[in-house]
Amino acid sequence: MPELPEVEMVRRYLQATSLFQTIRAAEVKDERILSKVAAERLAEELAGQQFSCVRRHGKRLFLKLHDSLWLALHLGLTGRLIYLERGAEEPGHTRLLVFFEKGHKLAFDDSRIFGEVGLTESPETFLLERKIGPDALQLDREGFLEIMSGRKGLIKSALLNQSLVAGLGNLYADEALFQAGICPNTRGLDEVQHRALFFWIQEVLRTALATNANLEMLPNSYLLAHRYPGGTCPRDGALLRREKIGGRTSYYCPEHQKLRPRQI
Ligand SMILES: [Zn+2]
Repeated sequence: MPELPEVEMVRRYLQATSLFQTIRAAEVKDERILSKVAAERLAEELAGQQFSCVRRHGKRLFLKLHDSLWLALHLGLTGRLIYLERGAEEPGHTRLLVFFEKGHKLAFDDSRIFGEVGLTESPETFLLERKIGPDALQLDREGFLEIMSGRKGLIKSALLNQSLVAGLGNLYADEALFQAGICPNTRGLDEVQHRALFFWIQEVLRTALATNANLEMLPNSYLLAHRYPGGTCPRDGALLRREKIGGRTSYYCPEHQKLRPRQI
């Protein structure tokens, strides 16, 4: 599932390909992709407009149509945005097709249809309505401490909870915990752990962005390169543990991510 770095790459891609071209028409090819908007209205609102700006918040994307209307996108599990030069064939699971002047198109392709397309007055309105928390890369350390301190639940679940911090998914949450040496089963971190975790969330996301979200380019010291059954910890060689935590398959090192009692 695309997480913050992958979605940021899509934002950059849209910025490079799809802005400032007049939209001739839009065709909803599968209404299951739509969220709280009828296909006719979506097509009507897009026709004649241009995307003038693209923003990302957490795993969400917003394309500006005019001052009080934005297209809101979520890639879900398998969503992809593909810019098609004139004459290029559209991908096999196209759910929404935007036709630009000069014959170019933008396709939202999504085989499993966990993605989402909707309209909103503004990204701010959308984020409030959906109760989406601050973006993981926009958040400062004090903000993070404020959000996380006093929470009693599993730290892994808190990191995946988009209403607390937006942008982390299973892979990068595990990675930040791994680097910070914190067991994903920990409940109630102390301040030292929270600070370390905040540092590593930033570090892991920025490192991923520096590779253009190419997972194969991440350092060998990262968990990501070793997270498969039988994988070992690049730090101490321990056999990595694979466990369902908060409903998601998590990987961690039983050696340097030991569960320890809360220290104050
Ligand atoms: Zn280890």
